[in-house]
Amino acid sequence: MIDYSFPLYRPPAEADNVVIQATYGCSHNRCSFCSMYKTKKYQMRDIEDIYREIDIFAKHHPDANKVFLGDGDALSLPTNYLMKMLRYLQSSFPKLSRVSVYATAQNFLEKTESELTLLRENGLSLIYFGIETGNDVLLEKINKGVTSKQMIEALCKASNANIKISATVILGLGGEAYSNEHIRDTAVVINATRINYLSTLQLGLEEGVKERFYQYFDEFTMPDDVQILNEQKQLIHLLHPVNKIIFRSNHASNALHLSGTLPKDTARLIEKLETALNIGERAFIPSRFRGF
Ligand code: SF4
Repeated sequence: MIDYSFPLYRPPAEADNVVIQATYGCSHNRCSFCSMYKTKKYQMRDIEDIYREIDIFAKHHPDANKVFLGDGDALSLPTNYLMKMLRYLQSSFPKLSRVSVYATAQNFLEKTESELTLLRENGLSLIYFGIETGNDVLLEKINKGVTSKQMIEALCKASNANIKISATVILGLGGEAYSNEHIRDTAVVINATRINYLSTLQLGLEEGVKERFYQYFDEFTMPDDVQILNEQKQLIHLLHPVNKIIFRSNHASNALHLSGTLPKDTARLIEKLETALNIGERAFIPSRFRGF
């Protein structure tokens, strides 16, 4: 029905929603840990092709109320182009309540606050954003292309435009050597912004990216589950968000599934982590049931 360009990625929360590829690939495509779009050349799609796909979805799923625009960072598209798409979605799905995209800090820095407000007014209401780490040394090592200061600026621009933020952090990203700095500075970024949803993943490297990832470190020791869960505990302990954050640690990679609202559930989450760490491996999800 839809001629998707594979591989196709979308956040788990979008599994049951309409997915339209507004671009192919990722405009940055240089993060050293990420293999998602390595086989694709970034390109903006013809708007007429997108309209055709929206028409097909509207015909078969007229009651759809949530749409995800792929691929890696649809917010990289020019504002006028996004506006055309958003208006077409609004007119095609009468019950539309949410349009979401993956977005990078660079995407936000390239747009003005009034452009972002316009996009929000036309339906763009949620972005999925990879913080990964708030530590500047690590941000450079993973080729994220921005500093923590720029990331804070980007996230504040999103919130000022009333766009909700679902952010991810990668536990273990600094190996053993940078573990403390990674968590300390990531908490600084989160505390300085108004993200709405937070998920923590565990570092996992596919064969195709391992060599490239390691080359930026003198030595990289892959963290074990105990270090990861200690990072998780330290991060939760350091978070003092200015607004309520829905927290999840239930990705396929996670050794322990956690969920709660921060800061309300901070003590409960730390207690659960401490209990698991005291029991040790028996309390962790076995690696054969996990993936990255
Ligand atoms: S911006 Fe996102 S999709 Fe693009 S390379 Fe980095 S992690 Fe991968």
